[in-house]
Amino acid sequence: MVKLLPMIDFQVSVGRSMHMRMDISPFCENLYECSCGQQHVLKSYSRILYQGFYRIVIECPDDPAYLTCVKIRMILMAKFIGLTSISGTKVSTDTDKFLLANLMKILR
Ligand SMILES: [Zn+2]
Repeated sequence: MVKLLPMIDFQVSVGRSMHMRMDISPFCENLYECSCGQQHVLKSYSRILYQGFYRIVIECPDDPAYLTCVKIRMILMAKFIGLTSISGTKVSTDTDKFLLANLMKILR
């Protein structure tokens, strides 16, 4: 099960964040564990809010309140070996929504 963290701790787990600029096509069609409790398949049209270093923040396709930080596991940054969910959060309060909106604004 993906550990649900408060928004701030979730952001710490993502690490240094930036606008999504990674090509995820090599990692699509793989399962990942979502913070909603289910498993989903990463799709080219999955909504990815932003990225960290080999980490992507994916919005749950069933309930957009759930965000999951998924690590793209690579060997020597060359060979893809799978997706591992690190943490999740549920954007539920107005403060959470404010923090997320603000983060999206300041990303480089
Ligand atoms: Zn989900």
